[in-house]
Amino acid sequence: MDQKVALYVVPTPIGNLSDLSPRAIEVLNSVDLIACEDTRHSGKLLSHFGITTRTTALHDHNERARAQWVVEQLANGISIALISDAGTPLISDPGYHLVSHVRESGYAVTPLPGPCAAITALSASGLPSDRFSFEGFLPAKEKGRFDKLTELREDPRTLIYYESPHRIVHSLTSIVKALGEDRKIVMAREVTKTFETFLSGTAAEVLAMVEADSNQQRGEIVLMVHGFVADEDDTIPTEAIETLKLLCTELPLKKASALAAQIHGLKKNALYKLGLEFDL
Ligand code: SAM
Repeated sequence: MDQKVALYVVPTPIGNLSDLSPRAIEVLNSVDLIACEDTRHSGKLLSHFGITTRTTALHDHNERARAQWVVEQLANGISIALISDAGTPLISDPGYHLVSHVRESGYAVTPLPGPCAAITALSASGLPSDRFSFEGFLPAKEKGRFDKLTELREDPRTLIYYESPHRIVHSLTSIVKALGEDRKIVMAREVTKTFETFLSGTAAEVLAMVEADSNQQRGEIVLMVHGFVADEDDTIPTEAIETLKLLCTELPLKKASALAAQIHGLKKNALYKLGLEFDL
């Protein structure tokens, strides 16, 4: 393979070894060095594919210190591939500081497309995929988790979280509390592996299913939450109410509610009804 000197960002399988692409194998074989999150873990993957390229450790604890060393290797014409334990490097995995330092230093960073649990799970979830927000892991402590979820309560995008099996019940409980028991969610577990499972329903239903079956509290999990949908009757977002109030000080209610509806993507009748109750 005719290869330019670069830092290659190479996704690896999230469970099914057949998901390592031919191009990924080619790059891993032809670079001079592979920077792994965990050399022992990745050693198994590399030996499965007969890849004998030298490896070096690059993880959360040494990434900043190693970034300059990587730049020096590139300066000496040495190509490097970055891999993490599974999936796409940098996505809830190390690599951000390295990639930004290599770019700032003027060297090429070449990404390969490949497995990522969030995108793979979303693609089969049945939830809206036109707009979504990847949120990584929720905080471990209940208060932090509740606050983070509450911040996004009125976000219309699908929300994607990574979750660990021992925290799944706590996180689902927080979702019920912060976003309401009727919020639609999909829990994708062990994606691409033997026990791949998708559970969907309201937050309360999925929590009940997971509590009732300890098998659902095992393995690797992506939790996806349907975005906020304004309920015409009682859940008009605060910002829309403020806009309507402001417009009502200058315009007749009919015009004000039509404009506020257009600005916030809501039904004008719901805003008109609400406006009738204002005491301006
Ligand atoms: N960089 C990886 C990626 O691109 O998906 C994610 C790394 S993050 C440290 C690990 C988390 O990803 C797991 O705790 C789980 O939430 C999710 N994950 C990884 N593999 C998965 C799988 N096969 N099925 C479901 N979730 C998975």
